[in-house]
Amino acid sequence: MPAAKDFVIDSHAHCGAIDTSMPQTFEDYLDAVDGTDIGATAMFSPVLEIYDRFDYNFVDTIAWQQRRRQSNVNVLSLDRPQFKVYPYFFIWNDFAVDQLTPVHCGIKWHRHAGEPEYCYDDPKCFAALDEIRRRNLPIVLEEEFDKTLDFIKELAQGITLIIPHLGMLNGGYEALDSAGVWELENVWADTALASSYEIKAYLNSYGHARLMFGSDFPFGSPVSELEKVQKLTLDTGIQSALLSGNFLRLQAQIRR
Ligand SMILES: [Zn+2]
Repeated sequence: MPAAKDFVIDSHAHCGAIDTSMPQTFEDYLDAVDGTDIGATAMFSPVLEIYDRFDYNFVDTIAWQQRRRQSNVNVLSLDRPQFKVYPYFFIWNDFAVDQLTPVHCGIKWHRHAGEPEYCYDDPKCFAALDEIRRRNLPIVLEEEFDKTLDFIKELAQGITLIIPHLGMLNGGYEALDSAGVWELENVWADTALASSYEIKAYLNSYGHARLMFGSDFPFGSPVSELEKVQKLTLDTGIQSALLSGNFLRLQAQIRR
């Protein structure tokens, strides 16, 4: 394992205990980062442990709420002395922020086009956002383009948002760029599965203070995602901000 000061932190990975449709247990993740400088990870549940993404008309049930709770609790159990895990809480339409604990390090908010929708007009949604704001937890926000913009404009005041994949699944880097999203102080991004071209374009326009390395394991390979960032041959200070410094700065803002 690399020395603590040299840790690379993966800001975006999934790992589960229920959904076996992909190799995505914590052991699978540790195998995938073996031999790399990755020594810590922000971890969230797989989508399929949270809701049925294949059914647009999916209605939440007690059984799904229990599955969701079990999955989120599993993520809380992963931290090890030899490998640091920053657990994120994957939130869905029960807006169960009562399950947040002082060790939670962020929120995962996730939906693609065609998947069941978040109930944005539910009072519980506003209450959940108030609690997230009070704790100063960052939200990894993956949503359709229009809903991403609405979220930023109407819901996210005072909340840090991390747009994964430099926007690939939130409408695309360019569309978000044209909409003025990347210049907002509370909008961050991660590099998972983004192209080197987009990473460079982002750095040129918006600097390096709000961009973080992520792999999106199991969809991305931590080894190749890390190599992609290292091959950009960035200035050492910029590379280290992306690989760990920015993540730690964000974590330091959480109120526990
Ligand atoms: Zn992901």
